[in-house]
Amino acid sequence: MSRNGIHLLSKGLTIDLHKTAIYPGTFDPITNGHIDIIRRASAIFSRVIVTLAVNSSKATLFTTEERLAMLREATAGLANVEVAKFSGLVVEFARQVGATVMVRGLRAVSDFEYEFQMALMNRKQEHSLDTVFLMPDEKYTYLSSSIVREIARHGGTIECFVPKFVEDRLKAKSQNGQ
Ligand code: ADP
Repeated sequence: MSRNGIHLLSKGLTIDLHKTAIYPGTFDPITNGHIDIIRRASAIFSRVIVTLAVNSSKATLFTTEERLAMLREATAGLANVEVAKFSGLVVEFARQVGATVMVRGLRAVSDFEYEFQMALMNRKQEHSLDTVFLMPDEKYTYLSSSIVREIARHGGTIECFVPKFVEDRLKAKSQNGQ
C-alpha cells in the first residue's frame, strides 16, 4: 500500500481513505436509495457510521427504535458499517466519533441548493468536516422515504423501493391506519 492510502490490487483499484465517514439522515424509513449510498460509501471509506437524527423537527412515521432496527438489518452484511443515533448538532457527533467526512446523497439538482447550504454551514462550524456527495444508481433518483410512505399508505406496490422487512413494517403501519 502506498503512503497516501491508495493501493492497486490485481483485481482492480481499491481506494481506502482510512477515514471515518458519517452518513446522517432521518431514514423514515430506509429505502433502496439510502442502501445504494451506504454501499458506495462503505467501498470508499474505512468506517461508515449511518447516523440517525433523532431530534429533527420532522414528525416521523417510524419511532427512533424502529428506524434503528431497520438500519441495523439493512447494514448487517457490511462489515465496516455501523449504526448510531444522535441528537443535537451533526458536527458535534462527527467530532465525538472522529469523523472528518459527512456523506450525503444527491438525487437531482433539486437536492443541491439545500445540501450546498448545509455542507458550508457544517464546515463553518467544524473546518475539518467535509461533505462528500454520492450519486445513487439512476433507478433510485426519483425515490424518497416520503414517496414510499405515501404509496404504502394508499396500498400501492413498494417492493422495488425498499427491502422486504421495511415493506412489511410499512404495510403493518398502514393496516393500523397510520
Ligand atoms: P434528511 O432528512 O437528512 O434529508 P433522509 O433520510 O431523507 O434525511 O436522507 C438522508 C440522505 O440520503 C440525504 O443526503 C438524501 O439526499 C439522501 N437520499 C435520500 N433518498 C435517496 C435516494 N433515493 N438516493 C440517494 N440518496 C438519497
